[in-house]
Amino acid sequence: MCSVNTDSLQEMIPITTEIFPGTSATCRKCGGTPVEVVLRKTDPYCRACFLTYVTHKFRSCIGKHKLVPVGAEVLVCTSGGLASSALLHLVHEGVTLTSLKKLRVQPAFLHVDERCASAFSRQGENAEQSSSSSFAGDAEYACRAVVQLGYPCYYTTLEAILSPVPIAPLLYKRGSSVEVLHQQSTSAVLQRHLQQLLTDCSSSTARESVVRVLLQRSLAVSCSRLGYTRLFAGHSATQVAVTILSDVAEGRGAHTAQHVNFRHVDSDSGVEVFRPLREVLEDELLHYLTINDIPYTRQKHTVRQPLWSIPCLLL
Ligand SMILES: [Zn+2]
Repeated sequence: MCSVNTDSLQEMIPITTEIFPGTSATCRKCGGTPVEVVLRKTDPYCRACFLTYVTHKFRSCIGKHKLVPVGAEVLVCTSGGLASSALLHLVHEGVTLTSLKKLRVQPAFLHVDERCASAFSRQGENAEQSSSSSFAGDAEYACRAVVQLGYPCYYTTLEAILSPVPIAPLLYKRGSSVEVLHQQSTSAVLQRHLQQLLTDCSSSTARESVVRVLLQRSLAVSCSRLGYTRLFAGHSATQVAVTILSDVAEGRGAHTAQHVNFRHVDSDSGVEVFRPLREVLEDELLHYLTINDIPYTRQKHTVRQPLWSIPCLLL
């Protein structure tokens, strides 16, 4: 029975006073100028207050749940994309702090190369070949960004999870080549197997879902094989919304909670998966990267056909 009380419903008021950066508006926190970021079209922030705002959202998400022990070894997912680049920077900033607010974890990073799935298209192999080199560059960038900050970075491929023989993630070292690691982590048989799985999907949303499930399995299994029990995933609030809508659209709403909660335990490997960015929106992460002048790759958006799936509509 519906429990909505219609008497308490309020009409949504359209925004009539949109604020733009560079105008005479002042920061809503400190009253200072100049305003560099405007959130929700009405909330102006100066640079310092905005960075504090995003960092606080990230740190409070970890702190308030009290589920990550002090000094814990965590494996952090990195794809080189928008959320991953922000997560790398936020973790690095937290770990290198010298104050009491220092983030007390020992991070290592893991990159899962999705080039085989990302380059997939119904149009044939031409798209795969044309985009393969750009995805190799994205993987190289993602691993190099981690190693340059002094953290260990492991590499594996998405299709490696389909191998009947376990394929352990490989350590990316400074000066090494992703192409060499890629050849050791994949095979033509595994690539054909993955592409057949995607070909059999009836819709783009289903295809995205298959890739997401394989990626989650790959991350959890790789984490376990490397001896870690905790995983940080770079799911933003926007991605959480996408997951909820996708799951409901596919009739899998009962399992949505485990895909969007701050923490869930992978039932097969026992790995704890945390989502410390689940309260930060993608546009906030984009502003964060822009202000800090942090580059990121756009690999996930380049191969999607526009408006073919729920992730394409929202991301
Ligand atoms: Zn301010």
